[in-house]
Amino acid sequence: MTSQEKFEKVVSLCKRRGFVYPSSEIYGGFANTYDYGPLGVQLLRSIKEIWWKKFVEDREDVYGLDGSVLLNPKVWQASGHVDNFTDPLVECKKCHKRYRQDFLEQEGETNCPECAGSLTEPKMFNGMFKTFVGPTEDTSSVAYLRPETAQAIFVNFSNVLNSFSPKIPFGIAQIGKAFRNEITAGNFIHRTLEFEQMELEYFIEEGNWEKEFEKWLFDMLKFAYDLGISKESLRVREHTSKERSHYSEKTVDVEYMYYFGWKELYGLAYRTDFDLKQHSKFSGKKLLYRNNETTEEFTPHIIEPSMGVGRTFLAVMLDSYVEDGDRIVLKLKPSLAPYKAAVFPLVRNKEELVKKAREVFDGLKLQFSTVWDDRGNIGKRYYSQDEIGTPYCITIDYQTLKDNTVTIRDRDTTKQKRIKIFDISLFVLKSI
Ligand code: ATP
Repeated sequence: MTSQEKFEKVVSLCKRRGFVYPSSEIYGGFANTYDYGPLGVQLLRSIKEIWWKKFVEDREDVYGLDGSVLLNPKVWQASGHVDNFTDPLVECKKCHKRYRQDFLEQEGETNCPECAGSLTEPKMFNGMFKTFVGPTEDTSSVAYLRPETAQAIFVNFSNVLNSFSPKIPFGIAQIGKAFRNEITAGNFIHRTLEFEQMELEYFIEEGNWEKEFEKWLFDMLKFAYDLGISKESLRVREHTSKERSHYSEKTVDVEYMYYFGWKELYGLAYRTDFDLKQHSKFSGKKLLYRNNETTEEFTPHIIEPSMGVGRTFLAVMLDSYVEDGDRIVLKLKPSLAPYKAAVFPLVRNKEELVKKAREVFDGLKLQFSTVWDDRGNIGKRYYSQDEIGTPYCITIDYQTLKDNTVTIRDRDTTKQKRIKIFDISLFVLKSI
């Protein structure tokens, strides 16, 4: 199976089994927008929960935040987004397809990749979605949908400082939606107009930036590996000075190997003291950290690990997808599996079996996400659960009625063993 075939199979599985649906499909869809279905939303939530636990709850130096999507438009002037959040847009003179010139350059293309037509001169295109607040649609009522979550963190810097008096270094983290009017969206959920980011701004003393940068790079990679993204499909690439954003002194991308090339999965940037200085200048408010021992006041510098939820989802799905003969298995880490266990009565038309299986199911689903299946034969049910990554299938059979034991079957080894009903939850909980 080539990596393109695998990608296509994952896209089709996502649709078929309720992970990801094209958005507004009954109206012909809406380009580059997607909806996460019943299983997708579970996986998405698990990714975010694991991130939040690792980077916020398990640490003493990080504070959580949930900022607004709509911020005072001055925020985007101060941040540089109004002037600099632009990409060079070129259009094919023949087929009128539009491209990002920098992407074409990276691929060594000087003409239209579709029809080889010549391209227009680049025009700078701002990637922020504009809207209007209130009943009048004029320049004074323009607002922007945030293109990144980071700015809400910078504008709340003093609030967190005043409420918690953290000691530097410390971080503020946020998970939330961001919106970008992408010129060349596509490749399924890799590049969408609306997506979620998991971002953390880590406030440091300038002299420590290189050390902190290395630590964060390690933590980002570890996070990806822990979710089951393979080491072979990741690489770290430093931005050239031309590529780097206006605020950054050093940026590296953690890239994922797709069939269409190495593409950004996560970004890590050293943003210097740019953001707090800019917001201080535009708002007229002091945004300083005070060292209580030396009474020195200074503008902290910032390291920013920024990670996309959708891109993580896609990488996890691709690296979990395995074909074993005619069996499709999604080898998701049990902590990510939408269902941790499936419960089956051996047959659906034996009242005692169904009653017993229901008891087991009702007990388990209070503890972790569990699904019921009584359709078709057991073999088919196993195949169906393998394809959505359910790590354990539990069957209630005639022996269960005699001795309160069930068979528990492991997704990855396909081996079954008998265990007591009483022991099922501990067995499953140990793996998640
Ligand atoms: P790219 O180079 O792919 O356009 P970027 O450098 O603009 O990405 P950042 O501004 O660093 O991306 O955003 C941080 C993270 O947000 C990215 O690493 C990625 O995981 C996610 N992300 C950015 N843009 C999109 C998008 N259009 N769709 C899905 N996820 C995105």
